[in-house]
This record gives sequence, C-alpha cells and structure tokens, in this order.
Amino acid sequence: MKLEIIPDEFVKAAKVLQEIQAHGFEAYFVGGSVRDALLNQPIHDVDIATSAYPEEIKQIFNRTIDVGIEHGTVLVLVGEEQYEITTFRTESTYQDFRRPDTVTFVRSLKEDLKRRDFTINALAMDVDGKIIDLFDGTLDLEQKIIRAVGNPKERFHEDALRMMRGLRFASQLDFTIEGETLSAISEFHSLLGKISVERIAVEFIKLLLGKNRRAALLPFVETECYQYCPGLKQYGEALLNFLDLPNRQLETDNQAWTLLLHSIGLKENELRPFLKSWKQSNQMIHEVQLLVFGLNKRLQGDWQVMDLFNLGLDAVLSVENLLYYYDQKSKLEEAKERYSSLPIHNRKQLAITGNDLLDYFNKKPGKWLGDMIEMLETAVVNGQIANDKELLIVYAKDIIDEE
Ligand code: ATP
Ligand code: MG
Repeated sequence: MKLEIIPDEFVKAAKVLQEIQAHGFEAYFVGGSVRDALLNQPIHDVDIATSAYPEEIKQIFNRTIDVGIEHGTVLVLVGEEQYEITTFRTESTYQDFRRPDTVTFVRSLKEDLKRRDFTINALAMDVDGKIIDLFDGTLDLEQKIIRAVGNPKERFHEDALRMMRGLRFASQLDFTIEGETLSAISEFHSLLGKISVERIAVEFIKLLLGKNRRAALLPFVETECYQYCPGLKQYGEALLNFLDLPNRQLETDNQAWTLLLHSIGLKENELRPFLKSWKQSNQMIHEVQLLVFGLNKRLQGDWQVMDLFNLGLDAVLSVENLLYYYDQKSKLEEAKERYSSLPIHNRKQLAITGNDLLDYFNKKPGKWLGDMIEMLETAVVNGQIANDKELLIVYAKDIIDEE
C-alpha cells in the first residue's frame, strides 16, 4: 500500500531520511504521523525511526540535541525544522508495569514496530510513501478499531499506561476498542495504580477533549479503569451522567474539567482537592473553580453584575458556551455588552486605594481595610455609587461611623 498524496510535512522531512539512507542505514516515518496521514487528519510531529545508533545519527547531522539518548532519541535540527530520530529498539522486562528495565537498540524495523502499543500506531512509511504494515494496522484503520499489537494482556502488563492510551485514541479517533484488547483492559485495569498521575492525566484530558468522548468513557467506566484514577473511585454512576451530556467535542481543558466536575456533582470545597489530586496547576484550579461556580449560577438564571465582574469576560463567555450541553441558549452578545458596560473591570480601576483609606482615616491596617475595599468595589460595580475618590471617601466614612 502506498500513500498517494504525501503531506507537506513528510515532503519537507524527506531529505532527513535520504541523508540517513545515504550513510547506509534504514529510516522511516513512524507512529502517529503515519496514522494521521492515512486518516487524512492534520499531522502533529513527524517522528523518524532508524537502524542507525544515536552516535551514528550525531555523526551524520551537524546540529543535534540529545533529548533522550538513553532511549535512542536524538533531536535533529534542519533549517527551521526539528525531528525526533529514534533508533529501532526493543524493550524488555517491565517489572514495574510502567517503564522498560532495559532498552536494546536493534537494526530491525520489525522488532521496533512490535514493541509499539496499537496496530494503528505500528505503521511505518518510507520516503516514497510506501506503507509498511506488519500487523494489519491499515485494516484496523479502515474498520476504526483500536487493537493491541500482539497479546494485549502481555502488552498492558508491560506498560499499564497503554490502557489509558487505548481509551484516549478511541475518543480522539472515534474508534472502537477491539474485543480482546478491551477484555485485557478489564482484567488489568488495576495496574493503572502503578502509573504516575501526571501521565494518566495527559491521556485522560486528551480523552475528554476527543471527538467522541462517549466512545471512551463508557469503556472507561465498564472496565473500571476510573477506579484507579484520582478522585473518581466513588463516582462510577456519576460518570454516566457526564456521559449522557450531548457528545459535542469540548474546546479547552478547563471546559472539560468543568463539565466533569459539575456532572459528578462535587461541592464547591471539593473542587480544589480533586484537581490537586490530578496534579493540576493552581492557575488551572482557580480558573475551573470560577467556571463551575459560573455554570451553577447561569443554570439557575441570569448573571448578576457582581458575577460578571468576579469571573471576567473569558470565563463568562466560556460558561455561556457550556450552556449548550444543558440544552440552554447561550447569550454571548448580551453577556459581552453587559460586561463592557460594568463601571470598572478590576480592582485596580477603583478610584481609591488602601493607602488612600489609611491616610484619610488614620487607622492601622487590618481586616477592616480589605473589607472596606471590597464593599466599595461592590458598590461601584453595582452602580450604587460613582467611581470617584471623594464620593468613595464619604461612603467609607458613613460605613465607619455606623459601626
Ligand atoms: P499523538 O498524535 O497524540 O502524538 P502518537 O501516536 O504520535 O499520538 P505519541 O505519544 O507521540 O503518540 O507516541 C508516538 C508513538 O510511539 C506511538 O504512535 C506509538 O507507536 C509509540 N508509543 C508511544 N507510547 C507508547 C507506549 N506506552 N507503548 C508502546 N508504544 C508507544
Ligand atoms: Mg506523537
């Protein structure tokens, strides 16, 4: 089989393959880029596999960077482009279910393809577009099937992350997981407990953002993989609520987490620990907390002025876009207009500062100061008082006098 129209990314990289071949070695395009080209999908990185050893690659090319030389990977820089070139290798004795104990460089493409996870990822392509398909990967591509290379039980036992990868490809590509592969996931799901949260999270987020997350979430629940993912153990049933949402593709990580958290019904104070257990950044956690809060608000009715101010425009629009999943109309334009007509958009725009208040009232700083700023800010945002320093001082004085 031959790829008739070779995408530009490969044409550009062809000289790298030719250069390696000119030195007497084999070189092929491999992995996701070949799969995506056959599926007519956009290509991300063009990965190259070769019979040349890393040291040999470094002698062939002038500009190289050792990015993972112990795994056989050298980054080669050509003009503006960079390519990961990995020596054919086998991996053996995965005693901890996640990383091979030893990586052995080999000169055979077949050995290299054999260690790859799924048949659709075990395809290679030569410089002329000829596909090397030793495990019927092209047939599985046609039939939209995710099938482990070789014996699925052995493959998941070697590296448990592959189970999550299989699920995420089902979602991303809108494929079905083949029967034996699926039952091996059911059998070995608990090995996910050996995999680092960070690596599971990468796959899980890709799964949530895929074209058909339902195709992956159902097996994710049925095979009980969810039980070995942070914070989800008690939420098997609840995950099915998430699955029932319209299956339209999600746009951002934040939106994905927001819908998930909302669907499984976590309380406000449970959001942070949950996302922390998934090792998400504080920034992300903060943004998702705002979105969940906003979504709850918006599902109950219209925005209050203070909500618009607290969430900021991006979060407000993001929530509006999420209403689709709850069969409600978004009001993007109206939200934009209401937001832009707020008297101020952040605290810095308040016409008075903490220092102004300290000077004027000649009081020691303390809790009163933060409370006061907040009251003034709320009054300005709600239009109860103009954003004017003199007026704000008078307003503050009234409050203090009343106390
Ligand atoms: P993406 O488009 O998301 O990058 P990909 O298939 O390129 O998908 P990568 O994680 O970039 O995925 O891996 C590149 C290739 O390396 C895969 O196509 C597969 O052949 C192989 N591979 C990656 N991870 C594993 C693994 N855990 N076990 C076996 N092979 C793997
Ligand atoms: Mg890739």
